[in-house]
Amino acid sequence: MIFKSESVLRPEYIPERLPFREDHLRRLIMYFEEFIRNPGSIYPKVILIGKPGTGKTVTARKFGEYVQFTDSSKLKRLKYVHVNCFINRTLFSVLKDIGTQLGLPIPRRGFSSDEMLELLLDMIRDRDIYSIVTLDDVFHLTNHSGADALGKLVKLSEEYLSRGDRYRFGLILISQNLSFIDQLDRSSRSSLGSAIIEFQPYSKDQIFEILLDRAREALHEHAYSEEILEMIADVAGADVNLTEEHRGDARYAIDILWRAAKLAEMNGSSRILPEHVREAIKSTLRGIRVEELKLLPTHEKLFLLAIIKMLKRKEYSPYITFGEAEEMYQMLCEEYNETPRKHTQLWEYLKDLKDKGIVETRISSKGMRGRTTLISIPSEPLNILEQEVEDIVKRELAI
Ligand code: ADP
Ligand code: MG
Repeated sequence: MIFKSESVLRPEYIPERLPFREDHLRRLIMYFEEFIRNPGSIYPKVILIGKPGTGKTVTARKFGEYVQFTDSSKLKRLKYVHVNCFINRTLFSVLKDIGTQLGLPIPRRGFSSDEMLELLLDMIRDRDIYSIVTLDDVFHLTNHSGADALGKLVKLSEEYLSRGDRYRFGLILISQNLSFIDQLDRSSRSSLGSAIIEFQPYSKDQIFEILLDRAREALHEHAYSEEILEMIADVAGADVNLTEEHRGDARYAIDILWRAAKLAEMNGSSRILPEHVREAIKSTLRGIRVEELKLLPTHEKLFLLAIIKMLKRKEYSPYITFGEAEEMYQMLCEEYNETPRKHTQLWEYLKDLKDKGIVETRISSKGMRGRTTLISIPSEPLNILEQEVEDIVKRELAI
């Protein structure tokens, strides 16, 4: 037996304590102290910045737990809302998600985003609710829907004040860097202010401690050793000399631990061995996150799978054309007994996959066919990616 509680190694698990982030949490609480004590009195806005896997999401969620816990009003009027902008990439869907999380009766369709905004404003005032909203990975929203969408959300709280009410929202924006701010118009930018909390990549020692906490909770005592955790920390921890992308990423480290534990279990081993870790590192995706892949629409996944399979056929060229991807996609649809989506829809998928950094595209100006769009996946081993996507698709289509 390797696992005591496997779910502790899942990415959405919120651990009891957050080593090396206590200070970040404390600062976040400090910024919102007055709003929590006296909701509506001020409009706090805070930006969390850091590379993937530096603990931004988990710190915000921990803060959310604190807010729910401390809301002293008997009616529980103050709520914490966490919006994932990877899933909600338009103003409309962000507003809808906020409404749903606040337990408001939000209509599914038939409204423009401006009407939705009005509706939300009214309902929140009528019910006398206050909330602290986190827009997580907000750059997906600005990349996909433009800075205007974010501008409106930033001004949401001020809208109430201009109507003689109190501030109804506090705002937390999470992003990997500050470039989304440059896209905002001047007044949104100044309204946003400059309360920024930075999340640094974790060092090897820090990763080790985070892993130790998780291992104690997730695994049986005999199933791991500190050396095994050190071995993982060595590949995942930041190093002064190394600026490799995944260094300092706690999620990458936890993912490796989970995979290594899985391999040990599958091989009938009573403990995780160094070879399991080596194997796990090889099969862990680097830039792409599996849980993000899972969130793509089914046919976008199928289209991605088609791109991967077509790229694999090309031993000597890193690129395929859009036409080739489409052809492979149609073959896959036939194989899986699915009705193919239309050409224009596939272009939408491609744009989305590109926005999310899963594929790269470029326009070729050379060649006989004139300008065509070329697609590549430079950063992941195709075999591993193919296996992940195929597994997810098959599970989804129950094949
Ligand atoms: P980000 O949002 O910055 O990409 P996350 O908050 O999702 O990163 O963290 C990635 C993973 O690492 C999650 O599983 C999270 O629980 C874990 N993690 C990050 N920082 C810590 C920490 N200080 N202590 C314990 N676990 C952490
Ligand atoms: Mg995150």
